[in-house]
Amino acid sequence: MESMESALELLLAHAAPVCETEELALGETLGRVAAQDVASPIPVPPFDRSPLDGYALHSEDIAQASREHPAVLRVVGEACAGCGTVFSVARGEALRIMTGAPVPAGCDCVIRQEDTDEGMEQVQMYAPVGHMKNICFAGEDVPRGAVMLHAGEEITCAHIGVLSSLGVTRVRVYRRVRVALLSTGDELLQPGQVLTYGKIYDANRAALTTHLRMLDTQAIILGSEADEPQAVADALERAAQEADLLITTGGVSVGKKDIMHRVLPLMGAQRLFWRVAMKPGTPLLCGLYGEKPIICLSGNPFAAMACFEIFATPVIRRMAGRARWENPRVKTTVLGGFDKPSPGRRLLRARFDGQRASVLGKNHSSGSLSSVIGCNCLIDVPAGSGPLCDGDPVEIILL
Ligand code: AMP
Ligand code: MG
Repeated sequence: MESMESALELLLAHAAPVCETEELALGETLGRVAAQDVASPIPVPPFDRSPLDGYALHSEDIAQASREHPAVLRVVGEACAGCGTVFSVARGEALRIMTGAPVPAGCDCVIRQEDTDEGMEQVQMYAPVGHMKNICFAGEDVPRGAVMLHAGEEITCAHIGVLSSLGVTRVRVYRRVRVALLSTGDELLQPGQVLTYGKIYDANRAALTTHLRMLDTQAIILGSEADEPQAVADALERAAQEADLLITTGGVSVGKKDIMHRVLPLMGAQRLFWRVAMKPGTPLLCGLYGEKPIICLSGNPFAAMACFEIFATPVIRRMAGRARWENPRVKTTVLGGFDKPSPGRRLLRARFDGQRASVLGKNHSSGSLSSVIGCNCLIDVPAGSGPLCDGDPVEIILL
């Protein structure tokens, strides 16, 4: 049996990042991984500009100015943000200027209007301003040629804002990872079908589809298949023509209908490992179809969800070309407690409030999905632990 860590490592070793790229409109790139560095084609700001409302002038003209002895200058005009007029300001002159307007060549400072009488024809200046003061210089924010997005970086709202300020309209990103998802089980019906005796609604398909969407993958949803090994093998082989990664739920334990053990050889896929020392999800089965990983999760909804988070999520992040793929871990303490001992390693669904983690719900079986509502972390309880008491130190995996 593999440990959680060794199982993940085996999978990651086969999670090659996708190489194909595509060019997207900047606004469509949120959450995608940059495939190229983007350097600024212009300096930002593109010109020296005023960061306040006042007057642009020569600092030497007001070096001696005070309330008692104001300097008096002739006003040559008015520049507002967006103004394209090129002014020239000689010694003894000033330009009325508003925030964001270009500071004319030759002017070496801007005085704020509060230190003047705000005159329109001529203006009284009540204070000196230092050389180069109150000017936001061209390229001060982003010098021309500065790399503002690096290949491998995940594009955030901030990147989109910065790249817009550079005038960038399109960005080359890695294509989305294509993930095929198939739930297996004779008992499965899709919501909308009439529930008959012995059947249940498929919870995994919708839950994992949503996870795949949140991970920004291109999900190939295969629906559900009955426990027919050949039919499942055929469906997976078809999907593998397009998909980079195959994920199934159901049929990985030791029962008569645990068909995935037969499906892998039918597809000509190689088994990587079966069984991981953790609860839920012990019977995790993973393989390789050619180069493509297959992750076969237990059908128990909580087991499927937890193993998806622990194994599939990092694999998908790595395949997507992300620089970080690990699930973040935090050391914290338990709020409340958990009254069962854990002879083997156990993952408990819990909610972390930023300070402490409380175990959710009363039903901790791997078949119960209801107590997953509100879950934002899993408490990683080591093998051989007793019951958890209020305040006990624990390590959590953030989801
Ligand atoms: P299995 O992994 O096929 O042995 O299934 C374990 C348990 O999970 C059984 O009670 C199944 O009926 C249930 N189960 C399997 N697949 C799903 C699914 N997609 N949605 C909800 N429950 C499922
Ligand atoms: Mg089954």
